Amino acid sequence: ANGRTPLMAGNWKMNLNHLEAIAHVQKLAFALTEKDYEAVEVAVLPPFTDLRSVQTLVDGDKLKIAYGAQDLSAHDSGAYTGEISGPMLAKLKCTYVAIGHSERRQYHAEDEKIVNAKVKAAFRHDLTPILCVGEGLDVRKAGNQVAHTLAQVDGALEGVPAEQVERIVIAYEPVWAIGTGEVATPEDAQEVCGAIRRRLAELHSEELAAKVRIQYGGSVKSGNIAAIMAQPDVDGALIGGAALDADEFVKIVRFRD
Ligand code: PEP
Repeated sequence: ANGRTPLMAGNWKMNLNHLEAIAHVQKLAFALTEKDYEAVEVAVLPPFTDLRSVQTLVDGDKLKIAYGAQDLSAHDSGAYTGEISGPMLAKLKCTYVAIGHSERRQYHAEDEKIVNAKVKAAFRHDLTPILCVGEGLDVRKAGNQVAHTLAQVDGALEGVPAEQVERIVIAYEPVWAIGTGEVATPEDAQEVCGAIRRRLAELHSEELAAKVRIQYGGSVKSGNIAAIMAQPDVDGALIGGAALDADEFVKIVRFRD
């Protein structure tokens, strides 16, 4: 909305090996047209082990599909067994990296401090964070979704300079809507996405806030995306389950049709 190019990003989670990843990206590339790329930015976030294969395909065929990782280490190198660093992702020409996904917060105990350090690590290496925020069901039931989500935004952006914040992507993902089939209403999505943009304006400026893309995520499908995208502060979606079906993902990209 408002001149911002929508970003439709597929979070594959822990699905698709590198051969399946190649087949999947080829399907997307075959289906997507110049008209699609003009209207929407398309990105995929495969598992780490797929990134080299996706890079080779995208580079070789000059595809207009962006890609990135689902997480990164807060550290740039060293004795952190099993971790993947920002420099490694940058070397693979990743554009994006998801940070603070609710599954990372829940299963890997990622708190605001870690998320903040990861946002800084991403920017150090010119990766664009897709910062994931959003409340759980208990918070929603208590009506505290805005305060909760804004506190996550504040924590994640602490000490991050304006020239970096203006390039970030923020994904509002109510945890109760992720992978549950229960999508937020367009009004629910707008309430929190609008509040996030107002917070960015308070923290920095209206100009900066107007540049930042804010996505909705949580059980997005081709059947519900148009109404969500009609909201003024929603600039795209982070798509989990539905992104694993290439035809469905393409339909989501073509939400205007
Ligand atoms: C996600 O993983 O970020 C997500 C929104 O998942 P789903 O679309 O499956 O709810």
